[in-house]
Order: sequence, then C-alpha cells, then structure tokens
Amino acid sequence: MGFRQVINQEQAKEFLKSSISLSRVANGYLFHGPRGVGKSTTALAFAQGLNCEVEDPEGCGVCTSCRKIARFSHPDVTFVFPTSSKNEYEEISRTLKERSEDELFVHAFPHSASIKIRTIQDLRMSLASGVREGKRRVIILAYAERMTQDASNCLLRMLEEPPTGITFVLTAPSRHRLLPTIVSRCQAVRFVPLAAKEIEGVLLDKGVATPSEARIVARLSDGSLSTALDLAEQDVVEYREESLEYLSKIGTREPTEILEVAEGLAASRDREQVRRFVRLSLLWLRDVLLVKYGAREADVANQDMMEALRAEASAIELAELRKRIDILDEIVSSMERHVDLSLLLSSSFLRLAGIVEEPRQPLGTERQING
Ligand SMILES: [Zn+2]
Repeated sequence: MGFRQVINQEQAKEFLKSSISLSRVANGYLFHGPRGVGKSTTALAFAQGLNCEVEDPEGCGVCTSCRKIARFSHPDVTFVFPTSSKNEYEEISRTLKERSEDELFVHAFPHSASIKIRTIQDLRMSLASGVREGKRRVIILAYAERMTQDASNCLLRMLEEPPTGITFVLTAPSRHRLLPTIVSRCQAVRFVPLAAKEIEGVLLDKGVATPSEARIVARLSDGSLSTALDLAEQDVVEYREESLEYLSKIGTREPTEILEVAEGLAASRDREQVRRFVRLSLLWLRDVLLVKYGAREADVANQDMMEALRAEASAIELAELRKRIDILDEIVSSMERHVDLSLLLSSSFLRLAGIVEEPRQPLGTERQING
C-alpha cells in the first residue's frame, strides 16, 4: 500500500505528499481522470500518509494505522462507492473485503448503481463525532459522479461548512460529471492514462498474462489498468484469430454475404465485444503498416505473429492498408455515438470490401453548392 504502490501519476503523488509534509491539507479533493488508473488507490495512500503513526507522508504501510487503512478497518477512513442493492452497507463491506484480499481486484457494478442520499446523510451524522483515533478523518467517495441529485446536494452542504479535521476525496472520470458547486469547493488533482508499457509490465509482474497476451491487452486497454485486468481474463489470442478470420472473409465475399456477416456479428455480440473485435483488427492492421515502414519485432503489438505480419505487409498496397485502417477507426468512433450497430457494420464492411467507395452522407449534410 501507500503511494509507492500507485503506478505512474507522479504529479498527483508529489502534490499530495507535499500537502501532507507542509500540513496544507484541503477539506475537499477531486481526483479526476480515466477509470482504472489508480485514483482510489491513491486516495487510500493519501489517507495513510495523513494518518501514518511514523509520519511518513508516503504511508509507511507497516504501522497499525497504515495497516488498518489497507484493510478498510480504520474508524477514521470511510470508503463509499455506488451500490445497487437495498442493503448498501452489506454490499460495501463485502466488496471492501474482496478488495483488501485481492490486489488485482477490479471494481464492477451495474449501470444502475448509485451513491444514495441516505448514505451521505449517515455519513454526515457520523462526522459529528469528529476524529476518532487517527489524525484526520478521510472520506473517500469513489465514482462520485454516480451520486444522486439529492446526495450531491447533501454533500455540497457539508463541503460548504466543512467540519474540522475532515477531508473528502471524490473520484470521478471528469470534472464535468459533478455539480459545478461541488467542483469549486474541491482541489482538483488530475490523473493520466497509463502507458501501454506500464500496463504490460504490471500484467507480466502479476503473472496474469503471457508475454504475447500482455502486449495486446495493454494496447487495447486505453491506458486503464482495470480494463487491462478485465481483458486479461479473457482469451484475447482467440479473439484475435477470430477477428482476423472475419477480416480476411470480408475481402473475398459477395455483397449479400458481407451483409450477412455484418448482421450476424451485430446480432451475436454486445457492443463491447464488437468494439474489442474491431480494435483487435485495427491493432493488427496498424502492425502491418508499421512492418511496411520497416518496424522491427520490438515495435509491434502482435509480436508473436511476425511472419504473418510480414507476409501481409508485402501483399497489400499502402493506400489500401490506410483505407482499411481509416474505416476501422471510423467504426470505433461511430460506436461511441450509439448508432445502429448492424447498419454501421454493414456499410463499413462493404467499404472494406471495396464494394462501396464512399460512405453515404447522412441526411442534411449534403454539400452546399453555392453556400
Ligand atoms: Zn504508517
């Protein structure tokens, strides 16, 4: 535990450590940045640093206080996150137990989970007792963007009249997902996506992926360690085989068959699976492009298939390769706009096969002639 356990995020860590050493601790912090890059681990490390018995701003990790915080059993450190069941305290304590026992724990909850007003009201009541046995009470609200409107307003009142000796740490993907009045009362601390190399290193260290899987997974995870740990549990090499098979089929089929392939794919998988499938194809084609430009084995993601990459690189024209990469790129970005998956795949696959040259212009965007 402690700041040493947090990968990268040097700026955030330095800032927080110096606020501990200089005793300039704010009442509210907002840790913002992508999912799975270490925000809540850093919040816990911050709580350790603030309460460490040997006054190690990094959190020594061995004193009673540091160890209690790591086990989520310190009475001055409260960790709250969205819940979906009626019995939220039971859900919270069960999840925290799992988290303290499994260092590769990935927090997952249904889309409907929220931080409810009752939880914030109970918190407010409990804060009346002040600091219990440590130096500072730390309230961590993870995924704070999932607070209900009522819960946000209740928290806002606490931030407006902050009780002494208490620090709130909110984590969220972006500042814009919270009430501006809450944001303005918190010190913002930015968290950055992790580099693929860093994620690859963790996956190998923890022994959760083979070297070839780790390379691919790290490059599909958008800088998020939790996404990578999730992906590492799936057979990404098998998915790659499958996506390459589809890719090669598309080029050799008749239009009606291509449409069948697209519709079949859209019907049989959920959006996330289709997205992963397209991104694996994209990762492959980018490797082909790199090899075409003379990249070596160390530069590509699909290192274990160097021979096949070389063969494809010499067989495909540069312009054709670029066109395919662009089309797959467009699929990935269009998917974020909740378009009809089957339509999107059908039109994109026809373009990939060279049957349709240009995408049909959406209605209302025709080029103006005298405009
Ligand atoms: Zn300590």
